[in-house]
Amino acid sequence: MEKVFLVIGATGAQGGGVAKHLLQKGTFRVRAMTRNPDSSAALALRETGAEVVRGDLDRPESIREALEGCWGVFGVTNFWEHFEKEYHQGRNLVDAVADSGVEYFLFSTLPSVVKLSGGELEAPHCDIKARIEEYARQHGLPGIYLNVAFYYENFLSFFPTRREPDGSFVFGFPQGDTPLAAVSVADVGGVVVGILERPADFRDKVVGVVGDDAPCQYYAEVMSRQLGRKVVYRHVPRDEFAALGFPGAEDLANMYDFNRRFIPNRRKDLELSRSLYPKIRTFEAWLAENRERFTLGTGAA
Ligand code: NAP
Repeated sequence: MEKVFLVIGATGAQGGGVAKHLLQKGTFRVRAMTRNPDSSAALALRETGAEVVRGDLDRPESIREALEGCWGVFGVTNFWEHFEKEYHQGRNLVDAVADSGVEYFLFSTLPSVVKLSGGELEAPHCDIKARIEEYARQHGLPGIYLNVAFYYENFLSFFPTRREPDGSFVFGFPQGDTPLAAVSVADVGGVVVGILERPADFRDKVVGVVGDDAPCQYYAEVMSRQLGRKVVYRHVPRDEFAALGFPGAEDLANMYDFNRRFIPNRRKDLELSRSLYPKIRTFEAWLAENRERFTLGTGAA
């Protein structure tokens, strides 16, 4: 009988790519959990062959039901919708997985900024995931932990380029000259499929999912070349970025500052991602395929 693989977050960016790659590969029957099985994203999943079930990370019983009969599960939690509640949702997921008997639990987590910076910086969207990972490890879950890099797609949503008075375009973070690891979120699923070819090799390990690892000046050069407009990266100091005041500005300012000062590069993660998914795209390859999604100046897709 075909093994069932549950994808949590399948209507979203990470889980959507995971479900798509698993469906294309065809090794598993894919079950997608969503709070709203009538959404257009859920209907699209059904049309491509997934079983769609209703579930909510705030309702432990619904996670348990979704996990029934599953061989494995991929889970992602969404800080940017739930903020501090993300931790409880992650714990609910871990508790349900612990009782479910699944063979593998793939969890999209991030490193602990507060711990690795010796308490100097806090980035709750990373630190909460790291605490969920720690909780899963304490419970001896059959975990495989993914650290997904900055999405290329963020240039279309959270961090669009802005038009300058001289007609050029600019984007800026507190990343300095340190390479920023990045990836197309659509490619995360390819790495997941690669991991699932030999999951025992990755049990309890962290797999960094990275498609490119270059300074922001390089991403600006690629945008200039591919989009035919001058695009410039400007280093924005941590305090200036934090003062922008949008929800999460302080959190993100600290994440970039942490990357800049504590993560010199992620070449090893890039090599591993490429070995697991040789078709993983560089920023240039991704942008060449997504040029029309850029409306420079607004970043709107
Ligand atoms: P997304 O596209 O906004 O999708 C969120 C998904 O989570 C949806 O499928 C949604 O499903 C599901 N969801 C939300 N609340 C739920 C709940 N209570 N119960 C069940 N499902 C729930 O998000 P994403 O980009 O895939 O993932 C977001 C996470 O990625 C964030 O925590 C962020 O920190 C992390 N991340 C982001 C980046 C980046 O560069 N942007 C990089 C690494 C990690 P329904 O609405 O259908 O229920």
